Amino acid sequence: MTPDQPLSIAEALQLAARTHHLPQLEAQVLLAHVLQTPRSHLYAWPEQPLNAAQRIAFLTLLERRQQGEPVAYLTGQREFWSLSLRVTPDTLIPRPETELLVEQALALLDPGGDARVADLGTGSGAIAAAIASERPRARLLATDISAAALAVAADNFRRLGLRRIETRQGNWCSALHPGERFDLILSNPPYVAEGDPHLLRDGLPWEPATALSSGADGLDDIRRLIGGAPDHLAADGWLLIEHGLDQGSAVRRLFDQAGYLETSTHQDLAAHDRLTRGKRPPAIGAESKGNQSP
Ligand code: GLN
Repeated sequence: MTPDQPLSIAEALQLAARTHHLPQLEAQVLLAHVLQTPRSHLYAWPEQPLNAAQRIAFLTLLERRQQGEPVAYLTGQREFWSLSLRVTPDTLIPRPETELLVEQALALLDPGGDARVADLGTGSGAIAAAIASERPRARLLATDISAAALAVAADNFRRLGLRRIETRQGNWCSALHPGERFDLILSNPPYVAEGDPHLLRDGLPWEPATALSSGADGLDDIRRLIGGAPDHLAADGWLLIEHGLDQGSAVRRLFDQAGYLETSTHQDLAAHDRLTRGKRPPAIGAESKGNQSP
């Protein structure tokens, strides 16, 4: 197949399956992206010819996909919590399992309430956008250490009309002002162990390494979050952290060692441990009083 041979929609999809071994749905998503049409158009007009520019664009995407580049980066778009988000290689691609973080946060947030919520390491802004779309009165802050990621997040908030989300650049809790307190702090931090072979598969080499891996056991950033959050949580404030499927007991231990209350681990739809949460440790004064009693 050369870029100057005529190609209809149906032929283009056949080519993707036969020559590039792409699943039909992926081929459709890429072709719909090139033609700037909904996927249904491909069924309605199978004989429509691609013009030269469309042919070249589609063949290029097939090549890149075959090399392993994630579909979301090829189209620059990904759905999360029924919101359409722009994603770039500066941001992690939102994963379906991260919707658990949103569900748990919503369960803790009163529907009409104006709670303060911080999404640390927001990336594309997926988590903050989902919460803001469900809790329009909540006051959200979305942070990221990467200016490039934060620009993508801010663009997503603007496109989705989510005006109440503040964005701020900074590393975990050091992005927060002294004395600034939240009812809920949540994060999907990097948590894959450095050197984990998983980092070489499933399109992960195309994603930002700093958004994926974190130290020898994958827990470095989770330790920072657990250590830093108490100074920025309101009295009954919660910290919610996403983690790897084999990290539930280790993360719960870190919460417990730091004195958090009501710690628990929750499972995603695939029945994997995916999130641990805890309530702010009691203030030091109250704690030392407790220690002194017989
Ligand atoms: N769940 C992702 C993966 O294993 C990792 C996301 C993250 O590190 N926050 O592909």
